[in-house]
Formats: sequence, structure tokens, C-alpha cells
Amino acid sequence: MTAAIVSLDHVNKWYGPHHVLQDVSLEIGKGEVVVICGPSGSGKSTLIRTINALEPIRDGKLLLNGVDVHGKGTDLNKLRQSVGFVFQQFNLFPHMSVLDNVTFAPIRIQKRPRAEAEALARELLAKVGLAEKADSFPGFLSGGQQQRVAIARALALQPPVILFDEPTSALDPEMVGEVLQVMKSLARDGMTMVCVTHEMGFAREVGDRIVFMDQGRIVVDTTPELFFDAPDHPRIKRFLSDVK
Ligand code: ADP
Ligand code: MG
Repeated sequence: MTAAIVSLDHVNKWYGPHHVLQDVSLEIGKGEVVVICGPSGSGKSTLIRTINALEPIRDGKLLLNGVDVHGKGTDLNKLRQSVGFVFQQFNLFPHMSVLDNVTFAPIRIQKRPRAEAEALARELLAKVGLAEKADSFPGFLSGGQQQRVAIARALALQPPVILFDEPTSALDPEMVGEVLQVMKSLARDGMTMVCVTHEMGFAREVGDRIVFMDQGRIVVDTTPELFFDAPDHPRIKRFLSDVK
């Protein structure tokens, strides 16, 4: 594997008495697409929030693009702003145009010149199929369009990795495909992606690896072929029959 973009080494995390991440070790290489799945409450969101340095950990080590996230002297805000995060509930700024949503962080946080940020934003909006919506406001877009804007906004940071937390779960079924299509094209372009999703068709087609979590642990970390065609863990069999 090439240099790891994300590396968790024996990470443990508690919420009060609840051991929510149990001895989690995971390495994600440049250009890899890793799908994280598992039952509700198994710790998937906690894991990717942890990767994005939004959650403290009790012990273990987390490296993000080579930086020790919890090391002394690490600027957590800067680190968080360098990672793309796409949420279930798009989380667009409702009072800003689509273009301003996409340029906000590059201009305000990364201090890039406006003209440069806007040029990149227009390029990214074209990439997600929304070039003509640059001046619209989020409230006038469908859920699928809003989520595609959210993906463009994440890409505008030019991050080393994009984390997706159930990006299609809040969408009407007819809009799921357009968002998955955009995610597929990012994967083809070589983007490093960590995707929590129940879209098993996407997982099989696009995932390089499937990580299955149960009760705070990584139960398996394997190829889509092995995961789907020879699930050898009763919990996975049950999960697969539930999501189908
Ligand atoms: P998943 O995304 O797989 O559904 P989560 O990571 O959201 O799971 O949650 C894992 C467990 O941690 C669940 O039991 C959940 O109730 C609990 N949990 C999540 N966030 C918090 C929190 N901020 N405080 C306390 N418990 C939490
Ligand atoms: Mg979750």
C-alpha cells in the first residue's frame, strides 16, 4: 500500500461507561475507497468523526495525512478544515448562494483569493452537474442537488480524503442515484474516500475494501468479493439480509 492517508492504531473511545470504539485499527491508503457498514449504533459515525478529529480518544494513535492528530502542537482546527466531510443532512448554509457555500471555507479559512476560489467552485459545480445553479439558494434545490453541492463544497478544500456519513440516507429514493454517480466519479478520479453507507450496490461496485463494524469493533476488513460472496460471520449475514 502507498502512504496511509488515515491510520488508526488501537484506538479506544468511551462515552461515559459505553466503550464505543474498541481497539480499532485501520489504515487507508491514498486513492482507496473504503466502505464502512454495520448495524445502527455500531460506532460508524463515531469512527469517522474521530478520523476528522471531531472526537477525542482515550488511547491509541490517529494519523491523518501523516500528522499525529492528538499530538502536542497539532492545530486541530486547521486539521479539520483540511478534510472533506459530507453529512447525511447536507448542512449547507441556507442564506448563502450555492457558489458562496462552495467558496466560503476556501476564502474565509484557507485565505485563497476570491477569483481563484470562484473559478475552482465553478469547475467543481460543473463536475457535480450543477454549473447552472451557482446563483441559486439551497432552499430552491432538491435534496439530491443539495447533497451534490455539499460534495462540491467538500472538494473545494482540496482535501487528502473525503469522509461521507450516510450521504444518501436522507434522500428520496429517486435522488440516491445522482449522488452515488458523483461519488463514483470521484472514486474513478482517484479520490481517497471513507464512506459510511448502506448502499451495498455502491459498496460492491466502487469499494476497494469493506469494513464491517459491530458493537464498536471492526469485525471484518475485506474485499467486496469476499464480503458479499462469502460472508463468514453470522452478524454479517444478518446485516446483509436486513439491508437487501
Ligand atoms: P452508528 O453511526 O453506527 O449508528 P454511532 O457512532 O452514532 O453509531 O453511535 C455509536 C454508539 O454511541 C451508540 O450506542 C450511540 O447511542 C452512542 N453515542 C453516539 N454519540 C454519542 C454521544 N455524543 N454521547 C453518548 N453516546 C453517544
Ligand atoms: Mg451513524
